[in-house]
Amino acid sequence: MRVPVSKPLLGEKENQYVMEAISKGEISGLSGRFVREFEENFAKFCDAKYAASVNSGTTALHLAVAALDIKEEDEVIVATLTNMATFFAVLYERAIPVPVDIDAETLNIDPSKIEEKITPKTKAIIVVHLYGHPVDMDPVMEISKKYNIPVIEDAAEAHGAEYKGKKVGGIGHIGCFSFYSNKIITTGEGGMVVTNDEKLINRIRSIKNLAFGDKDKFMHKEIGFKYQMTNLQAAVGLAQLEKIDQIIQKKRDIAEYYLKNLKDVKNIILPVEKGYAKNVYWMFNIVLTGSLKGKRQWFMKELLEKGIETREDFVPYNKQEIFLNNNMVIENSCPVTNEIYPDGLYIPSGTDISEEEMAYVVDTIKQIVE
Ligand SMILES: *Cc1c(COP(=O)(O)O)cnc(C)c1O
Repeated sequence: MRVPVSKPLLGEKENQYVMEAISKGEISGLSGRFVREFEENFAKFCDAKYAASVNSGTTALHLAVAALDIKEEDEVIVATLTNMATFFAVLYERAIPVPVDIDAETLNIDPSKIEEKITPKTKAIIVVHLYGHPVDMDPVMEISKKYNIPVIEDAAEAHGAEYKGKKVGGIGHIGCFSFYSNKIITTGEGGMVVTNDEKLINRIRSIKNLAFGDKDKFMHKEIGFKYQMTNLQAAVGLAQLEKIDQIIQKKRDIAEYYLKNLKDVKNIILPVEKGYAKNVYWMFNIVLTGSLKGKRQWFMKELLEKGIETREDFVPYNKQEIFLNNNMVIENSCPVTNEIYPDGLYIPSGTDISEEEMAYVVDTIKQIVE
């Protein structure tokens, strides 16, 4: 048996919409109905007023940082355990990322450690809803209000996740999503910025397409980027969005199965769903502990030999050699993360995984552990 870690759920509808875009010759980011409809429907899905489509999650994050006028010497607080794209977005504007440690249970930013990092130079807080579990947003938004610092939500892994009944992405000032091929829904490569702030969305829409002039088109308003999503990608995205509830339900069913069948396996910590949360379980992440601690490479190799794909957790900012070598970060600044991430990995949870395959994954893990 061969069980991949994830696989996109593409079907007839994606095919039909892409064909429509091609047959009409509407393929750019400015032509055709799909870009507009995907943006409108995605904003609605997040309970946000506005959405702007882009060509990746990374560029969504960069636009969020740029639209907030974050510049050289400004500081931005960021959850340390994330895809490094979250940090790169800050560094593209020559600002200084300030990593914050994680909560051991959710693996998300620990809100109680944010305030001590705030200085007069702090210009934004970026939280990451890691693996589909929402960040504890109330304390984050309280700090935001107290210091008047905007919050960017990196929701690249958490489409449809909810915090106290509210969809992530629309809770902070700007929400960023990715539609990379392994994300909850996909356009191959792609992303979205959502916000309730009209001024911010106008700025984002302008700078994502070269900041063309209003009256005189080629008299540009500022230095813009070219981060447009094409109508072809949006065609796929619109079709994906039509079945997002079904995809999320499937992710939750997979998680329920694993949670039930792995709960008695010793020395494996399973993902949680806090009382405030609806977790969309983008990936089913486990952490090795006790006698399995330090044995991730061996564990992953054993599974792969049985045809089961896994992936190790992200390397946090405070462990990245490029930043350590340039004295941009202190390696031991995030002790909880350092303790956990070397033992974290995720197991197969593709939307087309069968119960038989999940049973095989569970049995194989039990065999390896015993
Ligand atoms: C995938 C991801 C990104 C980057 O998205 P791309 O579409 O790959 O550019 C950013 N942050 C997190 C947390 C991600 O998982």
